[in-house]
Amino acid sequence: NAAFDRPLQTRVLTVANQKGGVGKTTTAVNIAAAMARGGLHVLVIDNDPQGNASTALGVEHGAGAPSTYDVLIGASTFAEVVQPSAFDPKLICAPATIDLSGAEIELVSIDSRETRLRHALRDYLVHRGQQGLPRLDYVLIDCPPSLGLLTVNAFTAAGEVLIPIQCEYYALEGLSQLLKNIELIQAHLNPRLAVSTILLTMSDTRTNLAREVAQEVRDHFPEQTLRTVIPRSIRISEAPSYGQTVIEYDPASSGALAYAEAAREIAKRGAATTSNEGEQQ
Ligand code: ADP
Ligand code: MG
Repeated sequence: NAAFDRPLQTRVLTVANQKGGVGKTTTAVNIAAAMARGGLHVLVIDNDPQGNASTALGVEHGAGAPSTYDVLIGASTFAEVVQPSAFDPKLICAPATIDLSGAEIELVSIDSRETRLRHALRDYLVHRGQQGLPRLDYVLIDCPPSLGLLTVNAFTAAGEVLIPIQCEYYALEGLSQLLKNIELIQAHLNPRLAVSTILLTMSDTRTNLAREVAQEVRDHFPEQTLRTVIPRSIRISEAPSYGQTVIEYDPASSGALAYAEAAREIAKRGAATTSNEGEQQ
């Protein structure tokens, strides 16, 4: 349970995959919780109208609660909407309410509609510094299963994309569409965006299929794919109904241990990347 490596700067990761049910939300909240347990300060931005990340982190997100929606339309700042998670005050969350479901349409007619999350997040990081609050080590943005304006805002606000991939047939199907969209974002809105991390999830580790899919993903993305694979685990799927991450719900379970290991890998790699960049300057 040693402390995690702290990045030199706040790392912002968008957790994305245009398929639903592949483990985006589960990955965002459990990586975040493992990092907080490792001593890091982490913000989860719930950017999905379903609000599943908010549920798993035990934060208030009933209709009308101050939320990511208010930040996107410019009615509130992140400082006004973030709440500490029930798990750990180092882990905070900007919740999503049902209001966010209208945002895709409302944003269309709003000024600088693709960069609103980026600007609000930058302001919040500055605000924390001015208030003497600890610097955030990680920001994880949980996205809906679509490539609309909510996801575009997340890609524009982030430096990195974390793609969870389910270990099943056709795992890579649809991925080329996601990568094409990320290239468009890089070309037009955010040149520094990188697909830094791929995480294999929901693996039935005993099956040949899971092993074959994992190998195929590693062949395509040798640098990005984490060594740690998340197993399919009942405990992982039970945790949200208690308003908890699996890190809190059953820290000794295989799922919790795997997410803790994946989080440590992300923190290790990031620390290395950031310091190398520093040396080159
Ligand atoms: P997404 O956010 O991509 O739609 P979720 O993270 O909500 O996907 O996961 C979809 C469903 O699968 C949820 O019910 C979740 O609890 C469950 N789930 C996710 N990861 C695992 C896992 N490793 N083992 C078992 N169930 C999982
Ligand atoms: Mg989700």
